[in-house]
Amino acid sequence: MTPQLTDNYMVTIAERLKSAYARIAIATKKYHRNEHDVCLLAVSKTKPADFILAAYQQGHREFGESYVQEAVDKITQLANYSDIVWHFIGPIQSNKTAAVAENFDWVQSVDREKIAKRLNDQRPINKAPLKVLIQVNISLEDSKSGCHPDDLAALAQFVNDSPNLVLRGLMAIPAKTDDPQQQIQYFEQLRACFDRLKAQYPHIDTLSMGMSGDVEAAIAAGSTMVRIGTDIFGQRS
Ligand SMILES: *Cc1c(COP(=O)(O)O)cnc(C)c1O
Repeated sequence: MTPQLTDNYMVTIAERLKSAYARIAIATKKYHRNEHDVCLLAVSKTKPADFILAAYQQGHREFGESYVQEAVDKITQLANYSDIVWHFIGPIQSNKTAAVAENFDWVQSVDREKIAKRLNDQRPINKAPLKVLIQVNISLEDSKSGCHPDDLAALAQFVNDSPNLVLRGLMAIPAKTDDPQQQIQYFEQLRACFDRLKAQYPHIDTLSMGMSGDVEAAIAAGSTMVRIGTDIFGQRS
């Protein structure tokens, strides 16, 4: 059941979205970046379609989702809003690749060849190629998804050679830390991977890093897309 939203909630989302844009503007200014080179992905996982619509009505178009079935339900509900750009950012199981390939514009969490192959094979031919970011396990956590930095070159080549996929860049979720120096170090490592990859694939343009807790460090290190959930849509239960 979709919780009933008051007008007040719509206003809250509008204000929080504005604050998120302002935060990006301040950070880009501080680190001598162009404000328009950092895209805001509004992460709407666990939140109802009405929340997405509240942000949409403010002009926002890019949304991130992490759970396939929940996302497909919302994409279906919002099918009339055909200019929404849907990004899949969650872990991908093999048995969910068809739903991802059929419903999303971007996938940011490709971390192994098997998944890339299935997405390529299952992308409907009437749709534009699926835009792909490879997720990198930049802080080398055992439990984390993401490809090992040593395996990145081979996976990038595989994605680049897949006709129904377009390699656009990299994504990472570094290990949680409140130490800004450590945050920056992880982000700079990802940036270095990105720069190496870009030397080989000059068309790649997207470095997805930074979340509610570490937007500034990510922008300092060259992020072109920050993914913000909690600060826009509120705490997830
Ligand atoms: C949930 C999620 C986010 C947003 O996190 P917040 O802390 O709510 O801003 C960003 N990226 C990914 C991959 C996520 O799963």
